[in-house]
Amino acid sequence: MEKLMDGVKNADEFTIPGGGVVPTAILVGVTPLFVERVKELKDGEGQPCAGLYVPQEGKIKLDWGMPASYEQVTLAHELIHALLAQAGLGDMFGNLLEPLCDALGNSLPMLLRDNPALRDYLATPLQS
Ligand SMILES: [Zn+2]
Repeated sequence: MEKLMDGVKNADEFTIPGGGVVPTAILVGVTPLFVERVKELKDGEGQPCAGLYVPQEGKIKLDWGMPASYEQVTLAHELIHALLAQAGLGDMFGNLLEPLCDALGNSLPMLLRDNPALRDYLATPLQS
């Protein structure tokens, strides 16, 4: 990962008041994604939104100023979009895509938070 992240600019972090430290670059498979906050973020139809996965820019954009807990699940939601797209599944869920990303984005941080041994196990590179 460090090798792939060598060329990533601004690969540092920002802190959410009352929350954790948000990485500004995340490696998704072999693709680094920048995370940035945008004031008054809007989707492709001009509607206010909390987060966007913008693959053509290699970015996840988060609306500036949302509560820390909401920003956390929003980032997870957008990462689910990125993972599904990378697996070639981004277009296969139709109207179920947003509920799927909501369900996984809401539950994944909780699962990792509630099970540190599982989190450590899943993050450990295995020998074989
Ligand atoms: Zn979404």
